[in-house]
Amino acid sequence: MIVSRYLHESFDVLSVGVCEYDAEHRAVGWNRTFLHFFPEDDGLIYPGEPYIENLRRFYTLRLAPEEMHDIDRYIAEGMARHEHQTQAFEFLHNGRRLRATSLLAPCGGRVRMWQMLEAPRRAGAGAEALLPAFEALRFIPDGAMLLDSEDRIIATNDAFRDLYDIPADTLVVGLKFDEIVNECWRGVSAVAGLRASILNGLRYDGAPFEIELPGQRWRRVVARHTLEGLSCFIHADTTAAKRQQAALISAQDALREANAELVKLAQTDGLTGLANRRRFIECLASEAARPQALALLIVDVDHFKAINDQFGHVAGDTCLRLVAQIIAGPPTGSARLVARLGGEEFGVLIADATPGEAMAVAEAIRQALAQAPWRAVDAQLRAATVSIGLCCGHGPLDGDALYAHADAALYAAKRNGRDRIEIAHLPAAAGLKAG
Ligand code: GH3
Ligand code: MG
Ligand code: MG
Repeated sequence: MIVSRYLHESFDVLSVGVCEYDAEHRAVGWNRTFLHFFPEDDGLIYPGEPYIENLRRFYTLRLAPEEMHDIDRYIAEGMARHEHQTQAFEFLHNGRRLRATSLLAPCGGRVRMWQMLEAPRRAGAGAEALLPAFEALRFIPDGAMLLDSEDRIIATNDAFRDLYDIPADTLVVGLKFDEIVNECWRGVSAVAGLRASILNGLRYDGAPFEIELPGQRWRRVVARHTLEGLSCFIHADTTAAKRQQAALISAQDALREANAELVKLAQTDGLTGLANRRRFIECLASEAARPQALALLIVDVDHFKAINDQFGHVAGDTCLRLVAQIIAGPPTGSARLVARLGGEEFGVLIADATPGEAMAVAEAIRQALAQAPWRAVDAQLRAATVSIGLCCGHGPLDGDALYAHADAALYAAKRNGRDRIEIAHLPAAAGLKAG
């Protein structure tokens, strides 16, 4: 828990609600005042609950039936407020006006706190008192908009008109803000959820929200309500920052893709598309460390040098691709990993197979290769065979020892006439070493 139990209770004394979240936005702890402000959470919030679930409960209760189809948009915006909030904002909930803060904890989590404010009177009075002060906003470069308690425009400055493409001869007094934004989009395209975004933004007093305009232009809007129910909005042009952000995100995506491609390349054999030796050795080490049966086959083409010499290097390459295709094909059955270890040598790693099953896989590979369509490599190539070394063990075991014994079995197969399989027995010590 980021905040101690003692502090939770202290916040209760002050009637401040507290709820803590870890760096993965999961609930960690909360106090009684939190449940008082959000009774819908009582008995439902639990340690480890993702904040997104809390938001779903919150919006399910709050939204009118006609707004419910936009619930995912509301939740996404709530999540953004949770993650990026730097200033306190206010909103109405269960008849209370709450001021919310979200502080970044040193461990990366967030501590959210709610304080109850005096409820607005919503009398609609006070515009006259505020208008002279609003006059001063004519001199700021940002757009300013004053709304009455019905959310209708009382006044705006010229910068506001510029930001929303409003012609000089158009009256905006009496209009609602979403009507202004809709007007910007008229004839361009229908923007899904635009009204929901604006309505949601209007509800969180002091929490900035963003509005997209045609031509990939963006406005950042932040509202402040007065006790009389009036609200003053400031609008800033964030197009440049948004474009920069979009460029950064796409550069990041491209980098991520390039990285993934590099990782794949670093693990793949260029000629056959199989895993390469590096990947095979890594996989052997991790599979050997597990408590399971493990079989390793090393498959080597017999007299491959002669094939190269007789038919040329290009035919030799075609031959290797055919061998790869056959070894990686159905005969290997439960094979976990097939790799080209180098030259005309291939490795097959099979987990959870008995020595008998591993032998059957080796025999299936040997036979499939003996009957392969070699004439597709060169009309004159009638036959080619492979020799296979096999070693089985039960993990955890020493992967290097398993490899060395399979290799020794391969050399025995070569010595004993080729086109055959030899099995090496793994000494008990190889099993003990890793265990
Ligand atoms: P053995 O039956 O004892 O295995 O004899 P071998 O001729 O198959 O074995 P050796 O090690 O003498 O020759 C392997 C040959 O494989 C030599 C090398 O030029 C060739 N080779 C290695 N990599 C490639 C490749 O990527 N493409 C082609 N075409 N040949 C390769
Ligand atoms: Mg060979
Ligand atoms: Mg070889």
